[in-house]
Amino acid sequence: MSQLICSNCGSVGTPKTVTKGSTLIEVLLWLFFFIPGVIYSIWRLTTRTKACGSCGAEKLVPLNSPMGKKVQNDFK
Ligand SMILES: [Zn+2]
Repeated sequence: MSQLICSNCGSVGTPKTVTKGSTLIEVLLWLFFFIPGVIYSIWRLTTRTKACGSCGAEKLVPLNSPMGKKVQNDFK
């Protein structure tokens, strides 16, 4: 996997995975309303994104891409 650089703060490092929604709501939906629980789980999986480990922005670009090199130069 190529390294990612944050175009918001310029940090290179391990991104954190951000999952939208709430695990508590997901469990409750599964317990009481099976079908909405399934839909909610699928929605959470499809909206899961990588975010910057430093500032939390979801503006990560691959470091070895032209965009990544531009961002790296901007933050030098
Ligand atoms: Zn950042």
